[in-house]
Order: sequence, then structure tokens, then C-alpha cells
Amino acid sequence: MLEKPMLLRLRDPLTESERDSIFSLCKELGYSYQFRAGSKELLELTGAGAPSHRSLFEDLTGILSVVDNGQARELNMRSVGGPDLVVEVAGARFGGEWAGLIAGPCAVERADRLQSIAERVQAAGACVLRGGAYKPRTSPYSFRGLGEAGLAMLAETRTKTGLPIVTEVLDPRDVETVGAVTDIFQVGSRSMANAALLTELGKANKPVLLKRGMSATVREFLLAAEYVLMGGNEQVLLCERGVRSFDNVTRNLLDVGAIAHLKRVTHLPVLADPSHAAGRRDLVRALARASMAAGADGLIIEVHPDPGEVHSDGAQAVSFEEFERISADARAILELDGRRLSQADVVPRSDSTSGAGAQKSRPSLKVD
Ligand code: PEP
Ligand code: MN
Repeated sequence: MLEKPMLLRLRDPLTESERDSIFSLCKELGYSYQFRAGSKELLELTGAGAPSHRSLFEDLTGILSVVDNGQARELNMRSVGGPDLVVEVAGARFGGEWAGLIAGPCAVERADRLQSIAERVQAAGACVLRGGAYKPRTSPYSFRGLGEAGLAMLAETRTKTGLPIVTEVLDPRDVETVGAVTDIFQVGSRSMANAALLTELGKANKPVLLKRGMSATVREFLLAAEYVLMGGNEQVLLCERGVRSFDNVTRNLLDVGAIAHLKRVTHLPVLADPSHAAGRRDLVRALARASMAAGADGLIIEVHPDPGEVHSDGAQAVSFEEFERISADARAILELDGRRLSQADVVPRSDSTSGAGAQKSRPSLKVD
């Protein structure tokens, strides 16, 4: 098969030293190169690519942009016609024909409340329980989570319900502690560009749910995922949660186009968080529908029966009844697309293993 060339757009005019740097990097990386016929700006490179090559070229001042990667595929990129990655945790599956619902409170605050929320969202079709023990609050004076006590509550709830857990890790030094309890690590929007944290998670053997930074471009988002992937952890779930915009009718602007785009360019599962995008409970269901219609492989939703009692994100927490409606919507939209809603193993487990060792029995849950 003919090798697809990498295509670079060069600055015009180029200084001599810029030109020398480009040509010497081409040689160093083993590319042969030639200008596209009639052009002084488009340089075609032929040769075997590697994931690092695009960024190395982008860092040269003489290069305006990498127009085409050629064979230099980053690890986040879908190979031509390649399949979706399906991430599976204790029976919950995201990607390919499967989508899953993650639900729970913003933060873990009370053990009894966490348990009752877990039971209700599980009955309504959630396959993973969410809840923050370490909260990345904008103000350092706000409630910042219960820490290890919160992790213990999550562990207890998982034991009782069998629902796997996703919870946020904020600090690379906490990866081991959080990893001892969680089934999926969450990296929040405020931490998306924390290279030290991402590098540490690259060594972990559990999936990472990576939220898009609130001001991150799609490329920056994918490169954040690349940090985890290059460490050897291939289990990354991307999550679009809205970006900052000029308007404040919603807390953030849900980038539905990014969901559809990401589904094309990467094999990684793409989830959506309509709760943090909307910032208000009356819009969460509509944004959830839009996300699923755009191709999302799942949703993460904040649910609480008494938002008045919580210390974070009460305004966007939906009721159990609203979550049931969101779940029914997701099923209907998935059915239209020939996809299916995933369920977790519902048999309570007493260990923290996920995937291979987890029990596989999957009694069907009555949802609607
Ligand atoms: C959260 O999930 O509660 C959270 C803090 O989300 P984000 O990082 O998207 O703001
Ligand atoms: Mn929240």
C-alpha cells in the first residue's frame, strides 16, 4: 500500500535557520521530503510515522500547521476504519454498541444518602455510581469533599449494591489511595491539563474518565488523553462537559459538535456531562437527549432527592423521577441507533476488582 505523506504548511517567507531546522528534523525522523508541485509552503513528507512526530513538527517556528498527519498517528487517533474501544468495568460497558449511564451526587456527603441514591439510580438503569470525595472547588473556602472518609462510604455502597464507582482524583499523590477504592478514576475539568496527574494515571490499571477542560480545544483535550495513553493505560473515556462561553444562561456551553467530531476521530468512548454543562436542573434532560443523539457513549448525571441539603452543585441535581425520564430517553435514542444501554453486574461484590475478575451474572432490571 502506498504510504500516505505527512503534509506541513510552512511559513512564507522562512528564515534560513527555520528551513534548516525543518529539514534536519525530517532527516532525523527518517522522512524524505519534497515541496508539493508549484508550492513553497506545502511540504510533503514520506516515511514511517510515530505518535510523537506531529507535536515535534508543531513545535518548530517555521511550521504554521500540520495539515495531515500521514502515518504519524497519535495513540488517541482512530485507525482508518478501526473499531471503537469498549471500556468495561464490572459489566458496565461504554463504546461500540454499548452506552452507559453514570449517576449519583456531586459529592459524597452522607453514607445513608449515598446508599439511597445508589439504589434508586441503579433501579433506573445506571451502571456506575458517581460521587466526589475530593472536590476541585473554584473557591478554596467551599466544601472540598470528605477525602478518605468519602472514599470509605463509596466502597461500602459498592459492596452493598454492586455498582462500580467513579470518583475524582485531584493529586498525583492520591492515585494509590483513590485507586484502592475506585473502579474508574475521574479527572475533572480543572485538572485536564495536569500533566503530572495524567502521567501517574498512565501507569494505573483502571480506566480514566477525562473531562474536557472548560477552555480546552478539542486538540488539547485529545492531547491530555495522550498523556494517559502513552503511559500504557489504554482505557480512557473522554467526557464533554461544556466549555466557557460569552453567555451565562447556562453554566457552560455543551459542545455537541465536539461529541460528534470526537466519535469520528478517536476510538475512545465519548461521554457527556449535561449536568455541569447546564448548571440548572430544568435543562439537564434536554442536553442529555442532545448528547445521546450526537453519538455519546454514555452520560454522567448528578442526581439528588434534596438539593437543598448539599454543599456543591445543588442547582443542577435532578430528581430520581427526572433521572428515570433521562434513562428512558437514552434507551429510546440508543434503540434508534442500533445501540444498547449497558447494565452493571447487579450482584453485590465485596472486592474492588473490575473487569476480568468481576461477576458476570446480569439479571435484567426493570426500568421504566
Ligand atoms: C464534578 O463532576 O462534580 C465536577 C467537578 O465536574 P467538572 O470537573 O466537569 O467541573
Ligand atoms: Mn459537580
